[in-house]
Amino acid sequence: FHDAMTMKQDVAHVISKDHRQIYCLITPLINERGTHDGAVGLFRDITESERLEQTRRDYIANVSHELRTPLTAMRALLEPLAEDMVRKEDDKKRYYAILLRETMRLSRLINDMLELSRLQATDESAELCIVQLEPIISNVLQRFQPVAEEHDVTLSVPGSMSDCPNVWSDPDWLEQIIAIFVDNAIKFTPKGGDITLGIKADSDTAAISVRDSGVGIAPEDIDHVFDRFFKADRAHNEPGTGLGLSIASEIARQIHATLSVKSEPGEGSIFTVHVRTADAAIKDMPVTIDAEESP
Ligand code: ADP
Repeated sequence: FHDAMTMKQDVAHVISKDHRQIYCLITPLINERGTHDGAVGLFRDITESERLEQTRRDYIANVSHELRTPLTAMRALLEPLAEDMVRKEDDKKRYYAILLRETMRLSRLINDMLELSRLQATDESAELCIVQLEPIISNVLQRFQPVAEEHDVTLSVPGSMSDCPNVWSDPDWLEQIIAIFVDNAIKFTPKGGDITLGIKADSDTAAISVRDSGVGIAPEDIDHVFDRFFKADRAHNEPGTGLGLSIASEIARQIHATLSVKSEPGEGSIFTVHVRTADAAIKDMPVTIDAEESP
């Protein structure tokens, strides 16, 4: 205020304190005699918009980095191939195999990015309905059994699912979340490991868990596994894109589910999706009485 009044001009300043950022604009009030009567201050909390801007900058930096990594590897292989410097057939085959792998990695990354932005673009929730869990779990088992065999891990559902309640959800989206968990469990479980799917329910919620006996997650990483592009493997040698769990979180937001994770490095991880039971959701619904049908 002092500066605005002595300099007779607007003063703009951002005050940062306690993780908040306040934009201040002070305008002196000059009267017709050319002297000031005081000053008016406008204070705007820009914490959220600055955070969004930072997220956007980080996102672009991450995307560029993720795209550059496979492209650099591909270029390093294509140049000697194009210049006919690779003579041995075996070497050529090896180079082509790596090129194919990197190309597949790029298309996976782009597909995941498109899926994520498609999900984020809508604020609407999915239409929820009564969903039986048994067919969903059977579908996931069928889809992933061959992949698990290929990786030499067992995938099973111990116990019976006959008494598990129906839930209030969207069957395709719920299956997609469980599929992302199982896909990760297979990726991060060494040969000979076990992956088990389990359901625990009470009258209000059902928790569908995927437990693996894999590498586990370090305590300092566990809060970040749902972040976009996060990979515990900093060298990014793993085949993943770092987007699977972000997609799972977006889907969870749309079907009103919550996700949780527990893990012990070297012992394994448990990823869980929590959904409302159909009974609980129906009980809470507003009752509408059709006037014409009532006596
Ligand atoms: P990715 O495509 O890399 O799997 P995700 O978003 O699905 O991306 O997972 C992010 C990171 O979280 C993984 O790269 C890995 O470091 C860690 N993670 C996810 N699931 C597991 C798991 N079951 N066991 C150990 N680490 C996991």
